[in-house]
Amino acid sequence: MQDKQTCLALDAQDPLRALREQFVLDEDDIYLDGNSLGALPRATTARVRQTIEQEWGAGLIRSWNTAGWIDLPQRVGDKIARLVGAAAGGLVAADSTSINLYKALSAAAAITQAQAPQRRRIVSERSNFPTDLYIAESVVRQYGMELILIEPDDIAAHLDDRLAILMLTHVNYRTGRMHDMAAITRAAHDAGALMLWDLAHSAGAVPVDLTAADADFAVGCGYKYLNGGPGAPAFIWVHPRHADGFRQPLSGWMGHAAPFDFTPDYRPAPGISRYLCGTPSVAGLAALECGVDTVLAAEPLGGMPALRKKSLALSSLFIELVESRCAGHGLELVTPRDPALRGSQVCLARSEGAYAITQALIERGVIGDFRAPDILRLGFTPLYTRYVDVWNAVEQLRQVLDREAWREARFNRRAAVT
Ligand SMILES: *Cc1c(COP(=O)(O)O)cnc(C)c1O
Repeated sequence: MQDKQTCLALDAQDPLRALREQFVLDEDDIYLDGNSLGALPRATTARVRQTIEQEWGAGLIRSWNTAGWIDLPQRVGDKIARLVGAAAGGLVAADSTSINLYKALSAAAAITQAQAPQRRRIVSERSNFPTDLYIAESVVRQYGMELILIEPDDIAAHLDDRLAILMLTHVNYRTGRMHDMAAITRAAHDAGALMLWDLAHSAGAVPVDLTAADADFAVGCGYKYLNGGPGAPAFIWVHPRHADGFRQPLSGWMGHAAPFDFTPDYRPAPGISRYLCGTPSVAGLAALECGVDTVLAAEPLGGMPALRKKSLALSSLFIELVESRCAGHGLELVTPRDPALRGSQVCLARSEGAYAITQALIERGVIGDFRAPDILRLGFTPLYTRYVDVWNAVEQLRQVLDREAWREARFNRRAAVT
């Protein structure tokens, strides 16, 4: 049985404890929503100020060359590549996850429809993040394919000669369930299909090895565990075997082989750079680089495996404490108990009051979020979450439930963003 003293002792012995110093975090807040918006790195404000005042203000247009603005998508992409098992030069930071998914899925659709037109299915999970499904709807309409939505346990049954692309999110946003990337990719390939992974809840949170898994395409998010700030650029990766064999649909000039030749015809750049479309978002990429650097700072301390170990220790502790201290309050664990199947978050379902409980916790400084219809979602970012934060969060949850504090009317008024 854990108590608060044990948690404080775990923090004192935590080899990653110094990494928290990289962030601006209020001591009164327990921030358990880094899976939705990562915390602000201390370095970001100065870097963005420098980008605006010095590079833009003083350097003006010269900074495209002198400050390296033009190479930011590749430079930041190379840093993200180290976190997801991609080779340098194989990944770029650009656009949003939704847009990157459209590019990757369209490229995959074009490849499969050229090689195996009888394969007309894109298969994904019904519980995938909705934007992924909305984008897929658009791609199947354009390519005359069909989108099949299945339950996570039914993947094997859909690996047949109708399948063109299996499109999965590695860690599910509502349940925190994590797929076995290598095994599923192998099975998809054995069935003759291409494999596309969305790493929105994986990059910077769990070890990912796209190269070892031999995946075909991947996209991911910059503002969650990569701490790039609200609306940060996302990223996109393609396996080198496809690098020169695909077109992406948004054939803008930054993906051209020679943008500054200003030729009237489109000729795609070699490799991953053809995934760029328009002018890079310089301030956003500068902030994203600072965020990615906070994760890379763990490399001398064991890197992603060390972060993963702490993440699981935090989420396991949370589960144990909720089950012992909040028993009898109707909370149902939605996230897998088996650590191998769990991302870096824990989701609890409650048939009544899940939204209001989230709001009551936020007022008490425990910041998580609510996912309709009934889920209280808490993310454990190992870079800055402490064991004592887990203890205190469960103590606040216990009080909110014991005292039925969540029934107050103000906690039950739904805001636009939940
Ligand atoms: C967060 C998230 C997104 C976000 O997409 P945006 O284009 O940044 O709004 C997409 N897919 C998944 C699976 C996500 O978790």
